[in-house]
Amino acid sequence: MTSPEAKRLWRRAIKEHFNCQCVYCGETYELHELTLDHVIPRFYGGETTTRNLVPSCRKCNQNKGTNNWLTWMRQTFGHTPREKLILSHIK
Ligand SMILES: [Zn+2]
Repeated sequence: MTSPEAKRLWRRAIKEHFNCQCVYCGETYELHELTLDHVIPRFYGGETTTRNLVPSCRKCNQNKGTNNWLTWMRQTFGHTPREKLILSHIK
């Protein structure tokens, strides 16, 4: 998983796993519009692994920042079924 091509495919696979939806707001985007967000921010030692990466639109990625994802998500969107999607992905 070191070549740029392997990396690109890996990032794409994570987005496709979530049907190209931002896990936080639930909107569907084009592949190139989605970023990958560290569920546990790198700032807090979150790793760049599949389990810690979820597709996120730029807006959610920026707004979430270094907040706790669940706290931020509930404050922003209330309780949504997407919490479970994320939980089952990161555990
Ligand atoms: Zn979003």
